Amino acid sequence: MTARILVVDDIPANVKLLEVRLLAEYFEVLTASSGIEALETCENGKVDVVLLDVMMPGMDGFEVCRRLKADPATSHIPVVMVTALDQTSDRIRGLNVGADDFLTKPVNDLQLMTRVKSLVRLKALSDELRLRATTTRDIGIEELLGRKPSGDDGRARVLLIDERASSGERIVDHLRDEADVDVQSDPQTGLFEAAEAPYECVLISTAMADFDPLRLCSQLRSLDRTRFLPIMLLADPGDDSLLIRGLELGVNDYLVRPIDRQELIARLRTQVKRKRYNDRLRASVAQTIEMAVTDGLTGLHNRRYLDSHLSTLFDRAVSRRRPLSLMIADLDRFKSINDTFGHDGGDDVLREFARRLRQNVRGIDLACRYGGEEFVVVMPDTDGAIAERVAERIRTQIEATPFRLSRDGAEIAMTVSLGVSTLRRPNDTIADLIKRADIALYEAKSGGRNRVVAKAA
Ligand code: GH3
Ligand code: MG
Ligand code: MG
Repeated sequence: MTARILVVDDIPANVKLLEVRLLAEYFEVLTASSGIEALETCENGKVDVVLLDVMMPGMDGFEVCRRLKADPATSHIPVVMVTALDQTSDRIRGLNVGADDFLTKPVNDLQLMTRVKSLVRLKALSDELRLRATTTRDIGIEELLGRKPSGDDGRARVLLIDERASSGERIVDHLRDEADVDVQSDPQTGLFEAAEAPYECVLISTAMADFDPLRLCSQLRSLDRTRFLPIMLLADPGDDSLLIRGLELGVNDYLVRPIDRQELIARLRTQVKRKRYNDRLRASVAQTIEMAVTDGLTGLHNRRYLDSHLSTLFDRAVSRRRPLSLMIADLDRFKSINDTFGHDGGDDVLREFARRLRQNVRGIDLACRYGGEEFVVVMPDTDGAIAERVAERIRTQIEATPFRLSRDGAEIAMTVSLGVSTLRRPNDTIADLIKRADIALYEAKSGGRNRVVAKAA
């Protein structure tokens, strides 16, 4: 995973020191010797992580961080404050201006690499989600993200997996103002609990008698429910090689005992803040995609989705030599419903038709509203004879039960005409498939409506 790291320090020797180490790990390195220069570099984009010296003449690191976090164009770039002294007051000040992490000079190699890698990984995830969100920019993504949903500043929900009761109690006490912590002493049970409840971070004590803490981490990373759950390790001094392997497995951060309360809080906050941000992004991306491919009236897929997905289903059927059928359904004399019962009445009928259509096709079938009162169903692994039977079943279901309008409760007898086509080898195209279904539908209409016509292979 390569990334672009900006090193900011007013002393050239300090810049050089970090630059050399980062280059050795194949990071790209940019440098800046003042706060102003750092801000300019970040505004120009393409910075993945900033390592920011606190003590600089002119604009100090706190002010640089504050400005980066206040500007929507740069606020998502993780900032690591590099402090000369291990001072708690500096950390608190850093947190208040939005810093994501801290390193203390002289910078320890393991800490440098693990913190940077972890932040790069988080940023890569956010970037991916931001990209997806903005490629479908019709709904206000930025507005959605800028808005603080209720509870976003609330206490974090944390799971602590620690075999030793006394150490567990100490952690719970450290976090009493910050988080609701559930403690689990059995690692295997902890894994299940992590997947069951909406935790926002899991803390794992590496001191386990009969269990490999790294196995637990890799299990958490592979389960769907916990894939994005931040993991922090609570390690003992000398656990370096375990920590390195943990970070390779996707552990987000770690602390070494004796655990400093401020540091624990600061690191937990960073993880929870990132998770909440990414959760919101993920939800808005999912919602945008959903809206872009769904027909608002019926909840079926829309034509846009059909156009993109039909080619996938078509290619798959061709390459696997599997059958594929398609049907077009068109309500009979639908215009008269609008004319008699108004547009709302017509909409009721369309919704109810979509409901019955969905009930009569399989989950793997692709049912879409093609336009107006025309619907298309694509049926993978379905030959012409079966597709014709499905179409006939739908026809019967529509005819059998009148449609009831929501407003005045009027009951309307409806019928539908359907055209069915099936993939022909070897030279068939998607356009051919649709065209044959269309011709079949036309024949059904001209033959008197309320019928199925199939153009089988
Ligand atoms: P046929 O049996 O030949 O299919 O006759 P038809 O009246 O169903 O077909 P036609 O294509 O002439 O009319 C379709 C009508 O569907 C025209 C349009 O007003 C109506 N329509 C299209 N979209 C909507 C919609 O979203 N809501 C409602 N209520 N009506 C719609
Ligand atoms: Mg300095
Ligand atoms: Mg019609």
